[in-house]
Amino acid sequence: MDSTTAERRYRAFLAAAQLRYPWQFRCPGGPEDAEGVQVDVPPGWYGVLERLFEQVEAGMPMAERHGFRWRRLCARQGMLEVAFDGLRDPVSPRVVEARDRAAVTCEACGYPGARREVAGRFAVSCNHHFIERLLHGHPQGESAARHWWDTPQPGLGNRTPAAYMAAGPPSEVLIEQALRLAMPPVPTLEPAHRQRLQAVWPVLDEALGEGLRSLRVAEFNPRARRGGTLIALVAGSADASAQAAAVTRLARNGFSDLRLRLVAQSDLVAPAAADDPWACMLALEASVSLSRAEPDQAFLVR
Ligand SMILES: [Zn+2]
Repeated sequence: MDSTTAERRYRAFLAAAQLRYPWQFRCPGGPEDAEGVQVDVPPGWYGVLERLFEQVEAGMPMAERHGFRWRRLCARQGMLEVAFDGLRDPVSPRVVEARDRAAVTCEACGYPGARREVAGRFAVSCNHHFIERLLHGHPQGESAARHWWDTPQPGLGNRTPAAYMAAGPPSEVLIEQALRLAMPPVPTLEPAHRQRLQAVWPVLDEALGEGLRSLRVAEFNPRARRGGTLIALVAGSADASAQAAAVTRLARNGFSDLRLRLVAQSDLVAPAAADDPWACMLALEASVSLSRAEPDQAFLVR
């Protein structure tokens, strides 16, 4: 979809919503327009929002409608952000449902999807649009991505990825190939950087305990000042609360420039099927290992 068509679709979606549920977009005391309502959602989520508007219409008592309006309906890093003024009880549970639905709805097409990363950006994508995002992120640019797209691949039974995808839903093999192609270069760590990064070992040992098996660094380029990605390979499954605790500890110890990703070792066998395919493939193809620092002998000798 080109940008003009997308813009037209977006305007049509918003105009229809305002026409159908004018009270939800009204500025209290102001003119009846949507000024001040921040709306920025991808087309795949229009259905999620339409359902939300409809449910709020059905659940909000007439007498309370005058105090209600949406303030913010936005997609941010693959999550739906919603803010509104007015009575909370009939609306909040519907907002939670809408967020949950958005979390599994492809932002591009509205089919089932999952929230996945491509080069630091998260979005909810179906497999088809995940591949599209990976190709957009091709480090050698669009022409290299197109060349791969139109070249027969032995791993795909000598079919081109284009033909392969046209024949049916994208398989894990195709996703894995696209992931591998989109990987950034393997970073080179200068000794000073390596020494500094090795200091994350004790920090994460404490946060992740025995589950922590190894550490790898990817997307690390101090000159670009974008920090780097720290991949902690763990035994068992990657736990969200352990991840949050570890992120806090890293920040407290001066490592807020590192984005932490927990990857279950078992996921490395099938990166395309993992919860975090991008971090899995970084671990496999585009990262360097960070060994535990050697104990400082001079310090140990008393
Ligand atoms: Zn899609």
